[in-house]
Amino acid sequence: VSEDVAARLSAVHERMQAAIARRGPGPAVTLIGVGKRQPPAAIAAAVRAGLSDVGENYAQELRDKLRELAGLPIRWHFIGGLQSNKLKYLVGHALIHTVDRAELLEPLSRRAVTAGTVQDVLIEINLGEPQKAGVAPERAAELLDAFAGAPAVRCVGLMTIPPAEGPARPHFAALRALRDRLAATARPRVELRELSMGMSDDFESAIEEGATMIRVGTAIFGARPW
Ligand SMILES: *Cc1c(COP(=O)(O)O)cnc(C)c1O
Repeated sequence: VSEDVAARLSAVHERMQAAIARRGPGPAVTLIGVGKRQPPAAIAAAVRAGLSDVGENYAQELRDKLRELAGLPIRWHFIGGLQSNKLKYLVGHALIHTVDRAELLEPLSRRAVTAGTVQDVLIEINLGEPQKAGVAPERAAELLDAFAGAPAVRCVGLMTIPPAEGPARPHFAALRALRDRLAATARPRVELRELSMGMSDDFESAIEEGATMIRVGTAIFGARPW
């Protein structure tokens, strides 16, 4: 199993390098291995093979894996839906990619103050399917304005999950364009340098459209157990 993970990770690195070459000069791209429902041993194998960043979707699963993988040099990311009663498992431990409403900022800031840290987050933009998570692009400026009232939270970029149907690339281009528009206005504790976009099937086009973080699960770990 660990040889499989190492081989798949190296294939993903090659696909990344080829996409970065096609893109040309631009920002560094961080590969986040998405470990949801994968056993800690598979994540440990990927880290030993060179993976530096790991993303999780479920707060308690992240809490457990933090403990199980405590000896390994891992930067953690939280990429799942946020519930205010579970923020305690995340603040101070992971970059949170999925802030999509202003009501989360006060509890995030309060927890960060308690933990003696400043919590970095991305805001999740919903570019297609209104019933899914994420703030609509036309409401994003308002959400960014709300960071002024959350002294221990900092927004460092945008994240999106494109609709499952249809080509993803136009959505990646749209996220970058939105970032460029939003970045034209200076706001306290908002610095939109990261674009978290692209998964196993489409990360090359995300990189070509300016992704700085790609979130890749099955291409590294294989099919999820359930
Ligand atoms: C599961 C998940 C991924 C990884 O998906 P793969 O298709 O397995 O690469 C990326 N981002 C989010 C938000 C996810 O939930």
